[in-house]
Amino acid sequence: MNNRIKKFLSYYKPYLRLFYTVMACALVGSGIALLYPLLTRYITKDILENDLSSALSQIYIVCGIMLVLVVIQNLCQFVVDYHGHKMGAMMESDMRRELFEHYQKLSFNFYDTQKTGQLMSRVTNDLLLLSELYHHGPEDYIKYFIKFVGAFIILFFINAKLTLAIFCFLPLMAVFALYFNKKVNIALRRNKDRIADINAQVEDNLSGIRVVQSFGNEDYEANKFHYENNRFLESRKNGYKSEAYFSTGMDIFVQLITITVIVFGGINIVHASLDLADLITFLLYIAYLIEPIQKLTHVTMQFQDGITGFDRFMEMLEIEPSIKDSSNAMELKNVQGDVQFQNVSFNYNGNNRSVLNNISLEINSGDYIALVGPSGIGKTTLCSLIPRFYDVNAGEVLIDGINVKDISLHSLRRNVGIVQQDVYLFAGTVLENIRYGKPDATKEEIIAAAKNANAHDFIIALPNGYETDIGQRGVKLSGGQKQRLSIARVFLKNPPILIFDEATSALDNESEKIVKESLEALAKNRTTIVIAHRLSTIRNAKRIIVLTDDGITEEGTHEELLALDRTYAHLYNMQFVI
Ligand code: ADP
Ligand code: MG
Repeated sequence: MNNRIKKFLSYYKPYLRLFYTVMACALVGSGIALLYPLLTRYITKDILENDLSSALSQIYIVCGIMLVLVVIQNLCQFVVDYHGHKMGAMMESDMRRELFEHYQKLSFNFYDTQKTGQLMSRVTNDLLLLSELYHHGPEDYIKYFIKFVGAFIILFFINAKLTLAIFCFLPLMAVFALYFNKKVNIALRRNKDRIADINAQVEDNLSGIRVVQSFGNEDYEANKFHYENNRFLESRKNGYKSEAYFSTGMDIFVQLITITVIVFGGINIVHASLDLADLITFLLYIAYLIEPIQKLTHVTMQFQDGITGFDRFMEMLEIEPSIKDSSNAMELKNVQGDVQFQNVSFNYNGNNRSVLNNISLEINSGDYIALVGPSGIGKTTLCSLIPRFYDVNAGEVLIDGINVKDISLHSLRRNVGIVQQDVYLFAGTVLENIRYGKPDATKEEIIAAAKNANAHDFIIALPNGYETDIGQRGVKLSGGQKQRLSIARVFLKNPPILIFDEATSALDNESEKIVKESLEALAKNRTTIVIAHRLSTIRNAKRIIVLTDDGITEEGTHEELLALDRTYAHLYNMQFVI
């Protein structure tokens, strides 16, 4: 069996009992539905056409039976409606969790190429439709199959000719339905793409709403949005047009069939080959024959919706994280913090230009080194190879002599701490954000980390101290405060290897001074790589490494490099001799 089908069915597994119960109820409910016209026929034919003296009591008995059937049928319907939907929702929730967990594992190079809003659509809208299919799909098939086949057999036995007359219409009707059905489905699929585009745009816009307003670009953004919004609207209009054609056409067919039954039935009654009770039975069963075709769009729509949702779900699930544990991945223990790059070359996915070319660099445990070089040369990239955000194309990155590819990702990343220029804080309290560095940290540990990061004093001055809500991405804090929270977070994590990537570049002089103190406290007794834009901040580093287009071309102390009078001296003079 195709793997995707297998996977599709596998989500039923935890709920098989519920599934069988719901399907049994659908079966019983549809079976009972078939009986009402038969019972009506029994009243109109077998009771009313015979001895009327006992008719009333017989009618009461039949009506009593009908009432019992109504109760059973509706109990079944309740089970189908409630438990069926519940089952669908539980399956959907399982899938949503699976996809979210999968998202957590996908690598940086995947996210480099994706729009967040689109990824969100897959976890929300797409799966919503899928749960409908999981539940209604099998149930509808059972329901319509039983009704259609049952009605056909019953009518055929009552009057074969009239039944066949009705059946002349059905193929025509089916062809018509299939044609418009396809159109509706295409439109629906387009709708889904369009709404994902809208999601992506709204997400991007709201995340950057402050930039939008600071540029006064509200109208520009609104126009961009109108464009997407209109595309969605057009797509929906097209869909509705096809749907309207479809349902109007279907109604015409139903009316034609009804008229045919009345005309042919009338003729047959005149010729005494049919009686009035049979005609009534026919009229009552027409709906049962037509319903499956009428609901064809609905059912296939649901099917299509669900299947596209499932395909989109699987597309994501089938993307393997490009960076994952090797089969013999080991845990790092008692890390010293030696970091080595051996003939490392790297270029980003789908990008021919090589960012790093045959770089070799050795950093000893506890060293504090500075990495400088022109902007865009690959400093951030080089550092991102240590925690394996990306894998090298050639060469090796080693920690304590072990290739990072042989270390479990979890253990590798636990041992590397990064402080970046643009801090990402999560919506929530100060406490929660610091705790991110060590989820099981006690409050005392958190406060100690905040003190080490020079953050404690400003935190207790906040309206609710450690319980202060910092707003989405920490908007309620200043740049320096955010940076100190991010440093506290790393203090708590307590990794032996540190990377400061332009950690103070965005700060004013005063904040820079405080943050620098925090960083220096953090760096104590750890292997530290500092990428600095402001060269004044790394002047005292014992070892400065200069990265250029030709690789690492200079290395030494500030004075040595100035004396060399090459790239470093050039960068330094640009900053200070203006
Ligand atoms: P630096 O930190 O030295 O300023 P980076 O390491 O950030 O430079 O970038 C090095 C080069 O790689 C740049 O040309 C940049 O455009 C490119 N680059 C950086 N990140 C990515 C990415 N995620 N995908 C593709 N190219 C990237
Ligand atoms: Mg950088």
